[in-house]
Amino acid sequence: MDQTWPEKLRDRLVQHKAELTERIGKIKADVARGLDPDSKERLAQLGNRDVLNALADEGANELAQINAALRRMDDGTYGICTSCGEEIDKQRLDARPYAATCIRCATSDTH
Ligand SMILES: [Zn+2]
Repeated sequence: MDQTWPEKLRDRLVQHKAELTERIGKIKADVARGLDPDSKERLAQLGNRDVLNALADEGANELAQINAALRRMDDGTYGICTSCGEEIDKQRLDARPYAATCIRCATSDTH
């Protein structure tokens, strides 16, 4: 195996993590800014807040997956499916560096 590719993926994960952390921080700041109760835009703002919260949740979820992937790199188990123990296809990791399962397990997940 090419020894350099996990390091490249680590760089990408670390960078992605920084971007996500910044994005989530901005979203949370938007939510925390609060709502003007007298605003005619209140309903729109409430809807917007739901969207922002959903985005923050999504970002936090992705962040958790990135952290788990970085931990697996440290443990030396990165690139191995956490479900079946087979090697995860390199192309899959290239497209989704924080993937924890191989494409077979990801697509046959019916439970
Ligand atoms: Zn698998």
